[in-house]
Amino acid sequence: MVNIVLFGKPGAGKGTQAEFLKEQYNLTHLSTGDIFRFNIKNGTELGLWAKTFIDKGDLVPDEVTIKMLEDAVENAGNTAGFLFDGFPRTIAQAEALDAFLQSKGWSVTATIALEADDEILVQRLLERGKTSGRPDDQDEEKIRNRYQEYNEKTAPLMSFYEQQNKFYPVDGIGSIAEITKRLSAVIDNFVN
Ligand code: AMP
Repeated sequence: MVNIVLFGKPGAGKGTQAEFLKEQYNLTHLSTGDIFRFNIKNGTELGLWAKTFIDKGDLVPDEVTIKMLEDAVENAGNTAGFLFDGFPRTIAQAEALDAFLQSKGWSVTATIALEADDEILVQRLLERGKTSGRPDDQDEEKIRNRYQEYNEKTAPLMSFYEQQNKFYPVDGIGSIAEITKRLSAVIDNFVN
């Protein structure tokens, strides 16, 4: 099992890159943001509840997010590994993920952070908001709140994984293909 965690601030290109990497390495792509949006679209109880946080740019509380991610792993069937996109986003989530994978005899193989300057990303998200239909992409105040959530709750994950020698920062500015190459250079160290 190769379990890769892709993290980076909103707009850094996690989803775009995950689409390429999942094909290249035959990994199951799990995006908690996508799962929440799927639930919102389908009007499930989980979706309606999560939307109250997501629309403000706040993180959804850990307990529910962790349970949702674990269910998605359980339901994935046989796979060569996972590409976690947007999870974990808090230390509690990272600890839960370690414990959950360990219970299956697996572990996080590597975490890769797509790095980019906040101001570039805010502009990217506002641009994306024109077509994505996502309320959390359309309002600069909500976008800035998402960065604050990242800085407060997600940034500490870098040292969490650094301490485990599993942290790889990658320059997230460049063409999509260039960035895929940078990410592949890291993942290639762990696949045969
Ligand atoms: P994303 O598509 O990854 O940017 O996620 C969109 C929104 O979904 C985030 O701003 C959060 O409100 C929520 N979300 C996604 N993943 C998580 C997570 N791991 N923990 C808490 N909230 C999350």
